Amino acid sequence: MKNLNILINELNLLSSIGPKQAQRLAIEFVKNKEENLKKLDKISKLLNEINFCNICKTFYENDNCDNCELKSELIYIVENLNDYFKIKDSYKNQEFKIFNLNFNRKNDYLNNDYLNKVILRLEKMLKSNSDILKISFLTPPSLESEIIIRVFQKELIKIFPTRKFLFSKIKLGVPKDLNISYLNIETMKYVFDNQEDI
Ligand SMILES: [Zn+2]
Repeated sequence: MKNLNILINELNLLSSIGPKQAQRLAIEFVKNKEENLKKLDKISKLLNEINFCNICKTFYENDNCDNCELKSELIYIVENLNDYFKIKDSYKNQEFKIFNLNFNRKNDYLNNDYLNKVILRLEKMLKSNSDILKISFLTPPSLESEIIIRVFQKELIKIFPTRKFLFSKIKLGVPKDLNISYLNIETMKYVFDNQEDI
């Protein structure tokens, strides 16, 4: 079954879908073909409408990234997309300018090449947003996070020597190694509203 195998392979290429799951999905697709073709058609239309920004690593639906274009003197740095969605869900009526580190593994904190790319993205964002003066790290309090904040502070002061950034981070005392995306909304708000300057 050449085409079925190709379909399984394609589904397997979607991240977080394992080979067994891909096989089950392929079978399901073929079994209810009519219905699933309609769904897939809808998915492909939606995919064309949604974009992923190369600078802030968040989503946008218009020609340009709303988050990158949002005028704000404050920017929140989040660990990954889970945290981005958590903030979006917790504060539905508020607009925040967000920069996604896109750290999905602990290792990403320690990988120098990866870090340099992230700093380059942040540099681009800060260059095209001269209003930003406050940089707030919403990374969970941990040793890795402390190191990252220091590296970023040092690099940004080097890149922008005349811009006097104010840095803040989640207060210590908030449970160590907490994962923002697992918190309930009330706790999230507490963490978000209780930050300390660095
Ligand atoms: Zn953007």
